[in-house]
Amino acid sequence: MAAHQEKKLAEERKHQNMQNDTKTSQGQWGRAWEVDWFSLASILFLLMFAPLIVYYFIMSCAQYQCSLTDPLLDLLTGNKHLSDIWNRTPMLTYRAAAIYSLWVTFQVFLYVSIPDFCHKFLPGYVGGVQEGAVTPAGVVNKYAINGLQAWIITHVLWFANAYYFHFFSPTIIFDNWIPLLWCANILGYAVSTFAMIKGYFFPTNAKDCKITGNFFYDYMMGIEFNPRIGKWFDFKLFFNGRPGIVAWTLINLSFAAKQQELYGEVTNSMILVNVLQGIYVLDFFWNEAWYLKTIDICHDHFGWYLGWGDCVWLPYLYTLQGLYLVYHPVQLRTDYAMGVFILGLLGYYVFRMTNHQKDLFRRTNGNCRIWGKKPEYIECSYMSVDGTKYYSKLMTSGFWGWARHFNYTGDLMGSLAYCLACGFEHVLPYFYIIYMTILLTHRCIRDEHRCSSKYGKDWKCYTAVVPYRLLPRVF
Ligand code: NDP
Repeated sequence: MAAHQEKKLAEERKHQNMQNDTKTSQGQWGRAWEVDWFSLASILFLLMFAPLIVYYFIMSCAQYQCSLTDPLLDLLTGNKHLSDIWNRTPMLTYRAAAIYSLWVTFQVFLYVSIPDFCHKFLPGYVGGVQEGAVTPAGVVNKYAINGLQAWIITHVLWFANAYYFHFFSPTIIFDNWIPLLWCANILGYAVSTFAMIKGYFFPTNAKDCKITGNFFYDYMMGIEFNPRIGKWFDFKLFFNGRPGIVAWTLINLSFAAKQQELYGEVTNSMILVNVLQGIYVLDFFWNEAWYLKTIDICHDHFGWYLGWGDCVWLPYLYTLQGLYLVYHPVQLRTDYAMGVFILGLLGYYVFRMTNHQKDLFRRTNGNCRIWGKKPEYIECSYMSVDGTKYYSKLMTSGFWGWARHFNYTGDLMGSLAYCLACGFEHVLPYFYIIYMTILLTHRCIRDEHRCSSKYGKDWKCYTAVVPYRLLPRVF
């Protein structure tokens, strides 16, 4: 009898512990529940200034030959007023609105209406219906992966038009660049506002929503984790990948076409930027299923940060090198160009291999070979909101033994190569590497904070084995 009671008590204690652990996990895993003043200040700053920053860069190119200082000097010395700059800025046009609406509608059509066929004939490509990671509420979403196909169809049509049909000029994107910016902003704000209203009133999965009660924080960082319309239209997957990333390579092609039109040739720097960024974009779509396991999909909620960021920030600021080269057609020395190309490829290799190693390791639950050897790892556990205990592994060999985010290091090497392709005359093309360094360092710290909350002492063991974040012995 006593033994029976003791067993019951032990079970109750275990249950109680589990609930406490659950509260901790629920409180920490994923986006924050409470807003500290620093986060709030950063968010207010970004909400107010990010659209201005984008405008400033694009306007500097259009009105000041990509000089970032001249507009400021003009304003500070009274040479020009804000109204002078604004009056010279192209406004929203019906043409741009039509182009943009057609573009987004076409991408929605490709996303929801054509099931993936690429995985049926491309060896090694993972497409079709795939599962995402476990959400904090313990849900496993299914995704219809067909981004590579959307990218291929879009680009085939682009080239068919450029070389055969001639329905519109390939310079169409450059020629409408600022009017299209207003369209992208309208969509960015509309989708973020809709996501917020949806999160409050008709969320896809209420258990995966987080509401801090601070309007600005919730608007920026999002309430819903995986907002969807119907079974398949997933906001995060659609807006993160298309229309912005499919557009990235088209935008670069349009800039190259503009160079050809203006100067009668396309410079080697423009080709370098097109090729290196093209590899990055193609890699993204080839690995779209892997992307379901990255932070954007696994941890971030969908708000202005992702919605507006994907519609405006990404297509406008990630393509600054190509835009710059339209105004400054740099012809690089062959050996320098080769050096930049090698740096870009090396960065891509490190980025891809590091991501591949983690993906392979996680997919096979550690039953694989990394650099010819069985991977080393640390066993860890965590809990979802419903109290279910899950087990996971953190790899400590391969590139993951060199640093905790060596994939970011590769990404940064590639980013630097894009910038170096533009020469050294202006700082504007270097914005990308500065931004990526801030983004990825911040992301690294954010991710580690989350992993630490998720895995607790297991994370501490991991950081003791792999002490550096980005560069062994440096950081
Ligand atoms: P990661 O792919 O590095 O994913 C981080 C997650 O991986 C962690 O939260 C953890 O998730 C898991 N993890 C961490 N350490 C280990 C380990 N040792 N072994 C196994 N799993 C581990 O980060 P991101 O999603 O941020 O980045 C994906 C790629 O996208 C990167 O290469 C990055 O450079 C790129 N990127 C590019 C951007 C751009 O704008 N160009 C923006 C952002 C990212 P878990 O909870 O599952 O354990």
